[in-house]
Amino acid sequence: MLPRFEYYAPADILEACRLKAAGAKPVAGGTDVYVNMHGGKEKAAEVLDLKGLKELQGQRLTPEGLDLGALTTHRHIEEWEAVRGRYYALYQGCSQVGSVQIRYRGTLGGNIMNGAPSADSVGPLLVHGAEAVVLGPAGERRIPLEKFYVGFKKFDLLPEELLARIFVPLPPDNAGSAYYKYTRRNAMDLALMGVSAYVEVREGVLENVRVALTTAGPTPVRSHAAEAVLEGNPVSDDLIVRAAEAAAAEGKPRSSWRSSAEFRTRLIHDVTIQVLHEAVRRAEMERKAEAILRKLYPGQIGKGGGDDENS
Ligand SMILES: Cc1cc2nc3c(=O)[nH]c(=O)nc-3n(C[C@H](O)[C@H](O)[C@H](O)COP(=O)(O)OP(=O)(O)OC[C@H]3O[C@@H](n4cnc5c(N)ncnc54)[C@H](O)[C@@H]3O)c2cc1C
Repeated sequence: MLPRFEYYAPADILEACRLKAAGAKPVAGGTDVYVNMHGGKEKAAEVLDLKGLKELQGQRLTPEGLDLGALTTHRHIEEWEAVRGRYYALYQGCSQVGSVQIRYRGTLGGNIMNGAPSADSVGPLLVHGAEAVVLGPAGERRIPLEKFYVGFKKFDLLPEELLARIFVPLPPDNAGSAYYKYTRRNAMDLALMGVSAYVEVREGVLENVRVALTTAGPTPVRSHAAEAVLEGNPVSDDLIVRAAEAAAAEGKPRSSWRSSAEFRTRLIHDVTIQVLHEAVRRAEMERKAEAILRKLYPGQIGKGGGDDENS
């Protein structure tokens, strides 16, 4: 049973910020908070329900990119056709969270703010260059997601601030991304290891490469060593293997009851190879698909195109 608690559901963002600063526990979907309260791990005496805050709601695909309210659910991303094409890694991450029930309830904001190293949406957001948009009494701040994480379950967020939105820039036509989550079973399992990759391919050369590791340290992290191996070089099997070696050398997974650190390091290597091949393949596929659509529907097909949610 849940313990007794005071429940607040303000519609005003400043009131919400005040309540949070005073110690109320923010709740979006509650798939972490209520489960932890039920299990006695979370002892919040006051709960701050965020669902009525319009600043955290809604989602749009604009010519600049994806503007996601922190309350966007994993299921929403999973079912959004336009997102699947352009942000494939994010689609893969969100569609592998827990079960359908959890995905209908759990939000992107909650997945980031839970701070788990295994969070499935975060690696994909990191490689897509996402920014956290935080709101407080002093106004809005935009922080690259990579810098938003400052330690295990620690964020660049003041007590009176909330994560309001997530912005993900629109990838160019020659971009591709992928996420692979290695688990011991196919559903309702956290990642033993997750690797995300984003690449742009110009005449066979890799540009703007980003690789991120999930469950390889206290937070989801970029593998700058793997990126340095790949950046500016022609794609080849050998290059991808060298990048995977660099990622495995850089990752710092720990041993737990789920897996040893040695096995996780081996996984970084093998999964990075797989994910980079998939991202490169998708970069080439995206470019070709876009060209075909432009030929078929001249003047009607443009990246971004002001798609609203679920279009
Ligand atoms: C059975 C089960 C399976 C799961 N499987 C997975 C899985 O496979 N992969 C995975 O990544 N996760 C998994 N999870 C964890 C969880 O579902 C996700 O982390 C989910 O995205 C959390 O979102 P939420 O909205 O429910 O967060 P909540 O529980 O509402 O909040 C989570 C944390 O974020 C804070 N918070 C939420 N929103 C904000 C905000 N806007 N500003 C500031 N703080 C905020 C809360 O205070 C809390 O600390 C699973 C959970 C369960 C119960």
